[in-house]
Amino acid sequence: MAGLKRGSLPVVDEAPRWEALDHHLIQVRGCRICPAVEPPPVAARPQTWPRLMLVGQAPGPKEVVEQRPFAYTAGMRLFSWFARFGVPEEEFRRRVYMCAVARCFPGRAPQGGDRVPSPQEIANCAPYLEHELRLIRPATVLAVGQLAIKVFLPEPAPLQERVGSRFEVSRGEVTFEVIPLPHPSGRSTWLVRPENQERLERALALVRGSVGWRETFLG
Ligand code: SF4
Repeated sequence: MAGLKRGSLPVVDEAPRWEALDHHLIQVRGCRICPAVEPPPVAARPQTWPRLMLVGQAPGPKEVVEQRPFAYTAGMRLFSWFARFGVPEEEFRRRVYMCAVARCFPGRAPQGGDRVPSPQEIANCAPYLEHELRLIRPATVLAVGQLAIKVFLPEPAPLQERVGSRFEVSRGEVTFEVIPLPHPSGRSTWLVRPENQERLERALALVRGSVGWRETFLG
């Protein structure tokens, strides 16, 4: 796992590698490694070469049908956060690489809601995200929810110690900033507490000031 510290980052200008990315996404769409998930994988890409990535947990059934991440209710809340900065959903999708820790719908959990991907499913899917990080070389990654946050910050920590801070993470020679966000699912009670709302506001301020956001939407 990469070195982890807080700090500022240099701006890195990367040449687009569309052919390699599209080839990669064909591989992802054809993946059927995990027997318990409900394929096909969701593998979408933006229309402009991304400097900002958003990583969620796993798609739901609606996302699979539409082949777009965060296509349902959780997405409505997520995109409302960014719309406050003048970036509507479609513009965000057009410019940001959106993916997830697991690319297939895991199915329903017995207790209701979507099943959390198993450790084996997460391990099976991990090489896809790692390859994308090296290929895209993002300036900023928005990690949405604890499962995505742990990919970049594996040390155990409650969400309140993650949301509202910015972290510098490296993968090989690729270094980027990670901004943790809470999962926007309506099933989450974390955002109900006023102190967590304040943490979210701090996190969104970090998003707006991040290198990836500025290069994507203010450049
Ligand atoms: S969850 Fe990931 S590794 Fe598993 S079948 Fe879907 S794309 Fe493949």
